Amino acid sequence: MSGENVHVAVLAFPFGTHAAPLLTLTQRLSTSAPNATFSFLSTTQSNTSIFTTQNLPNIKAYNIDDEPGNHVYTGSHEDYDLFMRSIPTIYNNGIQKSVLETGKSITCFLTDLFLFHAADLAEELKVPWIPFWTAGACSLSTHLHTDLIIKTITNHPGREDMKLNFIPGMPTALQIKDLPMEVFGGDMGSMFVQLLLQMGKTLLRATAVALNTFEELEQSVVDDFKLKFQHCLAIGPFTLTNPKTLDLDRHDCLSWLSNQKPESVVYISFGTLMVPPPDEITALADALEKSGVPFLWSLKDNFKGQLPEGFMDRVSRRGMVVPWAPQAKVLEHPNVAVFVTHCGWNSVLESITGGVPMICRPFFGDQKPNGRLVSDVWGIGVGAKDGVLSKDGLIDAFDLVVSKEQGKKLREKVQTLKEVATQAVGDKGSSTTNFNKLLGLVTSTN
Ligand code: UDP
Repeated sequence: MSGENVHVAVLAFPFGTHAAPLLTLTQRLSTSAPNATFSFLSTTQSNTSIFTTQNLPNIKAYNIDDEPGNHVYTGSHEDYDLFMRSIPTIYNNGIQKSVLETGKSITCFLTDLFLFHAADLAEELKVPWIPFWTAGACSLSTHLHTDLIIKTITNHPGREDMKLNFIPGMPTALQIKDLPMEVFGGDMGSMFVQLLLQMGKTLLRATAVALNTFEELEQSVVDDFKLKFQHCLAIGPFTLTNPKTLDLDRHDCLSWLSNQKPESVVYISFGTLMVPPPDEITALADALEKSGVPFLWSLKDNFKGQLPEGFMDRVSRRGMVVPWAPQAKVLEHPNVAVFVTHCGWNSVLESITGGVPMICRPFFGDQKPNGRLVSDVWGIGVGAKDGVLSKDGLIDAFDLVVSKEQGKKLREKVQTLKEVATQAVGDKGSSTTNFNKLLGLVTSTN
């Protein structure tokens, strides 16, 4: 039987929205290679939250922290530091366990790119190392060119508006000020920055690099990657290749949405990690109240106390605040007009495949470059006025996107991108072709 000797060690990064897309990719690969074995390594908390009863028989989860005496990671800041210091030991134990239990040696390492120590493990075993980058190609390019960026910034201090066009393939609208300042503007000696520098260098040793994007969305950067990497495989967007069928609608958002008018609702979410500062939450609530728009706001219960007094009573006829929404499905709903977002990569892709324009309020990391791409490169959204959520700025932005000609143009452009994304995952599309190449590399035993 073909593939029965294949044993893929999948190393997941357990924090943020990292492990779930890697599991999605693993599920897709394991469905296409039913005789291959996939050992999925992450922390107990991460595995518990992403594995469901419907997982496939040829994927086995290994909790890397469940050995007696090991620290059990719950996701706090201290945990993050401790975890980073425990790499690679913590994964090596899990890998050994998976080899013993399956009786199969590892034939491929498929890992989150943050776990680039796998490059050494793969070289030792003479097997492929295929890192997966959960975000977009532009943000990866900034990490690949960290040295060049730092040198350039050092030579041009104070040039915030300087374009990043010295990075090959980078869209010219991106500027120094769109870079994550926690990486490029702060303590270059910090563990996090050193990790990213090392990651960028190690990347060039990969057998292939897989990304949750589609070539047509970030063509110039992908073209640059094709020159640099052995294989650059854009295989997304996952929202289309693997729609979230198990995302439960516990708060009945979808039936509430169905009772609204077409393209009328403002949907608001800042992802799984970010909550805007209290003054911006107040400004957003005031703008929603004053503008009279129907809205659906995903806001964790412990932050509801920051809403203005009596807000919920005053807006309950036309607004809903829920601790969790089935976002991908919400964004596909024809009654949603606009998405107020922090520009996390998954949110941006979900908005594109839902055909919904965005109002961007990025905070850190890749959110800023993503926001710039949305507003200035793809033209499918607008930035929040002065980069923050303000009452007047948001009222204008709602009006612009929902009622004005400019809003119509944004919607047309995002619809066009949605069609391009749909073609990319079609039978002969770029993402499908790249996925088949990836499948060949992951399941090869030569
Ligand atoms: N999400 C969701 N419902 C919510 C809030 C978030 O389904 O109420 C999902 C969203 O669909 C996306 C992910 O959480 O897939 C957030 O990922 P993203 O990369 O946008 O941001 P992060 O959480 O990593 O900052």
